[in-house]
Amino acid sequence: MISVAEAIEIVKQQTHVLETERVRLDQVLGRVLAEDVIADSDLPPFDRSQMDGYAVRAEDVRTAPVRLRIVGESAAGKGWHQELAEGQAVRIMTGAPVPAGADSVQQVELTHELKDGSVVELLETVEAGKSIVKRGAEIQAGEAVLSAGAKINAAMMAVLAAFGYANVQVFRKPRVAILATGTELVAVDQKPGQDQIRDSNNYSISAYAELAGAVVERMPLTGDETSLLKTQIAAATECCDLIVTSGGVSMGVYDVTKAALKELDAEIFFERVALRPGKPTVFARLPNGALVFGLPGNPVSVSVTFNLFARTALLALQGATEPTLKRETAALARAVKGTTERESYLPAQLTTNDDAELIAFPLKWGGSSDFVAFALTTALVIVPANVRSMEAGSVVNVLRLP
Ligand code: AMP
Ligand code: MG
Repeated sequence: MISVAEAIEIVKQQTHVLETERVRLDQVLGRVLAEDVIADSDLPPFDRSQMDGYAVRAEDVRTAPVRLRIVGESAAGKGWHQELAEGQAVRIMTGAPVPAGADSVQQVELTHELKDGSVVELLETVEAGKSIVKRGAEIQAGEAVLSAGAKINAAMMAVLAAFGYANVQVFRKPRVAILATGTELVAVDQKPGQDQIRDSNNYSISAYAELAGAVVERMPLTGDETSLLKTQIAAATECCDLIVTSGGVSMGVYDVTKAALKELDAEIFFERVALRPGKPTVFARLPNGALVFGLPGNPVSVSVTFNLFARTALLALQGATEPTLKRETAALARAVKGTTERESYLPAQLTTNDDAELIAFPLKWGGSSDFVAFALTTALVIVPANVRSMEAGSVVNVLRLP
């Protein structure tokens, strides 16, 4: 049995980055950048007004009130491109270029324009530099603004657009085959008969896989027969970089996933992790290079093990700089129990208290089959192995779930 940390390390070592491709900007949300993004211009590209008001020479407004002659107007997209002289002002809008000669902008609220529009009265003095963002103050041309390995979020879309990345070099999306074992399973549109249940794992797995940037290929339900499972796994390697199975990895007579993998000459990297829930998780590689995660069948174990291991592989395949869920610390809202030899990952919700501390509220759950309780889970509380219990108020590591 290996530790969770060792298992994650093995997953990272055995996962190779996929090739990259050029993709249109409107298609790259959620993809991982394969190039550094370089600013092709200064930001702002000219001295920019932060206010609606008047561009002036601060020197002319050392005492107030004072009247200046309005000699022009500078709007966003249509500047006034002459030089401001002593005693003059230019009416200016937010986002517009500040004319040469002006060194400050007084906001409109602190001015009074005379009726014919030829003169403005400034009611207060102005300091040089007021309400102007100098050219290049935010970003200078040539600077790297985003780094390869970042997962592109909505805010990054604006950065890519602003610097002209109409097409973006990103890593190819991994293709994932999902395959549920279990004679008891029927499809979601069927009424379960005697001894049957609906397959739910394929839906949580495909959802988590899509959140991790993968394209999902669903294989038919395979039952518990080694030969059929072998056929399906072999078919899955035709389409996919990674295969995620659920069920059939425990010690029961019908737990045939490992047997199928061995008969397919898979190289097994681990098959037991010191983890609760999710001890019998399998990680392997088939001779053609496809990676396989054999997750246990219980729905909560599936969610925990997918997010610890399969998600890491999917993000590593895409060249992500941070392929694992980030560990944070929180204070426990109530006591939890650990277990011997295995690290526990317990369902919880995160909130903050009035002192702005992060609080982990462990949920009541009925064990690794309780997928209904898990639906309310936003984070996992990590209890180290061999810790019998942790009291309310203890500081714990937590992982936010996607
Ligand atoms: P197993 O790991 O195959 O022994 O399955 C453990 C438990 O998870 C059993 O109660 C199974 O019925 C249940 N289970 C297995 N696969 C699925 C699935 N795809 N959807 C929902 N429950 C499942
Ligand atoms: Mg089973």
